[in-house]
Amino acid sequence: MADNPYIKKLIRDEVRALSAYHVPDASGYIKLDAMENPYQLPAELVDEWLDVLREVELNRYPDPGARPLKAQLRKAMQIPADMELLLGNGSDEIIQMICMALAKPGATVLAPEPGFVMYRMIALFCNMDYIGVPLHTDFSLDMDAMRAAIEEHRPAVTFLAWPNNPTGNLFSETDVMEIIEHAPGLVVLDEAYTSFAGQSFMARLGDYDNLVVMRTVSKSGLAGLRLGYLAGPAAWLNEFDKVRLPYNINILTQASAEFVLSHTDVLDAQAAKLRAARGELFTAMQAIDGIEPYPSAANFILFRTPAGQATAIFESLKAQNVLVKNMQPVGGMLADCLRVTVSTPQENTAFLTALRDSLAG
Ligand SMILES: *Cc1c(COP(=O)(O)O)cnc(C)c1O
Repeated sequence: MADNPYIKKLIRDEVRALSAYHVPDASGYIKLDAMENPYQLPAELVDEWLDVLREVELNRYPDPGARPLKAQLRKAMQIPADMELLLGNGSDEIIQMICMALAKPGATVLAPEPGFVMYRMIALFCNMDYIGVPLHTDFSLDMDAMRAAIEEHRPAVTFLAWPNNPTGNLFSETDVMEIIEHAPGLVVLDEAYTSFAGQSFMARLGDYDNLVVMRTVSKSGLAGLRLGYLAGPAAWLNEFDKVRLPYNINILTQASAEFVLSHTDVLDAQAAKLRAARGELFTAMQAIDGIEPYPSAANFILFRTPAGQATAIFESLKAQNVLVKNMQPVGGMLADCLRVTVSTPQENTAFLTALRDSLAG
């Protein structure tokens, strides 16, 4: 009820001012809006997986420490042996745990923009200050602006998505290292797209006291499981672990992820196919008059459309059954931009056909 008298009195102003994170209903569409991997597990692996699930004891709480899954992750993802591991219900929950632990009154979250929206949202949920530092128009880090903002706001935590979402580029390694070295607080390197970038800071974890590396299995084929992980020094992760709810990784996710991560060759082969498809899609988009795709190290491509037409093109794609992400409402550097997830050759072709049609109209 809009006029319920409790709401205005009790709910925090900044929460009332929010609109809930909007996820469009995608049923029936070719879904290219959320960076999902389009490939399923091969049928024989599905059978093996179902055998694993048959043994799961749904009447029992999950292992609160998720020990077998962590051991499997360590092996599959080359986590340095002297680093600790923390699991989240998606990496979104890890961002939330980090912010909850750091949310002293007046504490600041800093991130480059355009960037991943959950950094700002979760900072707000936790009553932290948020500073977004604009990127250069080529989406590289504006190091003068980053240095100045870090100096002025002394952030408790700086988030860097590497590659960045929604722009798709990898920031220069030198710039990232300079930020880690100069930041007075924690730096979270968000490697959600590492399997498409083929690069990582994981091996450098020991070099810095204030660096942690965050990843997710969502973009590499397991979005439905909701599993993210954070690797870093035990001193940090032991504190974050205190604000973690005891059973945050459910028993089906633990069993399923442990199983699939013992078959990383399957996920690796899918990522390799998507990397090849990304190159082909990029070239095909470059050849379309009026479309300017940005180079991507992730499994999506941000592209600029003719001025003032992004929403019309988005709607035209949708009318042709293709759902992408409209970045026009974000405005600023992303005005006139749409973002498309790299998918199977068939779906990429369907997207290209629809895109050409939307421009002709
Ligand atoms: C998708 C995404 C995430 C969130 O992933 P989940 O594990 O599904 O919560 C985190 N960071 C970036 C940059 C992303 O694009």
